[in-house]
Amino acid sequence: MTTLSIHQRINLAPAQTCHDSLADDPWAFDAIPGYGPGSSQDDSVPGFAPTNAIARPGQLPEAYRSMNDEELHRRIRQAKATLGDKLVILGHFYQRDEVVQHADFVGDSFQLANAALTRPQAEAIVFCGVHFMAETADILSTAEQKVILPNLAAGCSMADMADEDSVETAWEDIAAVYGFDPENPKPDAYGKLPVIPVTYMNSSAALKAFCGRHGGIVCTSSNAATVLEWAFERAHRVLFFPDQHLGRNTAKAMGIPLEQMPMWNPRQPQGGNTAEDLQHAKVLLWHGFCSVHRRFTVDQIDKARRDAPGVKVIVHPECPMPVVDAADASGSTDAIQKFVAASQPGDVIAVGTEINMVNRLAAQYPDRTIFCLDPVICPCSTMYRIHPGYLAWVLDDLVAGRVSNQISVPEQIAAPAKVALDRMLAAKPR
Ligand code: SF4
Repeated sequence: MTTLSIHQRINLAPAQTCHDSLADDPWAFDAIPGYGPGSSQDDSVPGFAPTNAIARPGQLPEAYRSMNDEELHRRIRQAKATLGDKLVILGHFYQRDEVVQHADFVGDSFQLANAALTRPQAEAIVFCGVHFMAETADILSTAEQKVILPNLAAGCSMADMADEDSVETAWEDIAAVYGFDPENPKPDAYGKLPVIPVTYMNSSAALKAFCGRHGGIVCTSSNAATVLEWAFERAHRVLFFPDQHLGRNTAKAMGIPLEQMPMWNPRQPQGGNTAEDLQHAKVLLWHGFCSVHRRFTVDQIDKARRDAPGVKVIVHPECPMPVVDAADASGSTDAIQKFVAASQPGDVIAVGTEINMVNRLAAQYPDRTIFCLDPVICPCSTMYRIHPGYLAWVLDDLVAGRVSNQISVPEQIAAPAKVALDRMLAAKPR
């Protein structure tokens, strides 16, 4: 009888991709509305127009579209050398390797915004991530620094599932349910507000500003529990947006029963809930999700355990709750990195997060077997739009004294958004 190796059992052969167009250059679909191949553009979330998505002015100049990879990388290296410490390039964990190789810092969105603060001499911060990340970097950077998103079509489908108008309307509806003034909620006899809004970092600056103006706060996937504790010290309940899964997974781990976490669907009266449900609610979960992380399933975990007995499974908390429950551990990208770093040579680890990060971990730890739970490769298709061609273009422009694709958050949004970010920084675990 033939004994299959662990690699054969878990099928580490190159997998199929979730969409054939992923092999195309991103400028082939940049002008088309939507998020690109493999994204949630086909997801049937009714009425969620990408109203936070920015315009897509201009296309990558033809010269850069037709350059070969060698020439693009040569230009990027040359521009970096010319600009020196006037430039800092940030690369998100989920970014493609061809771009990450040029980054001065690699991390999650908040780590990167903070990393940029260590380079006050940098006049240009080139953020190889998605739109909300560049916005956060702009809010936290100095007035003199320019934040650049190489491809303006790099949005985030999850962030766009909660737009400012929908949240404002929901807040008014919620105020009517709980009987408070939406512009000036007052604490009750116990010193607590009826509701506090909490937004995930993966949201537009406008929503961070909404939280800043309404006594609310921002959270990341690393500190969501601490932030919810902060909120429950000040309020009876929380409106959590845009990611239902992070909200549900975090609140459940804190001991809040599922029946006290109704979904708020902004398309339905009272969010689709009865008045009684809402009176008992502790967390109102916005109807949003990440199209990458919702691909992970319990079946994939079961298969990994069958194929590789002893496998350790870690998933991101943007995955659906049954997946997080079935895994051995869950955590932010930073926590996943640390989990892998703390493993031993010979360990087998299945990871439920974006494929570029998983592949990079597998390359970084060749003495361990690290693989993605999803056998069908589906990168974050919006992040994927930052092709080296776009990076070369914006850097060449900087060398020529031009700032292209700048992300600039207006002061009337940046100031209250920073209030909500500062509250997050001040929140300490109990
Ligand atoms: S992985 Fe999901 S949440 Fe993160 S940027 Fe991509 S679409 Fe947005």
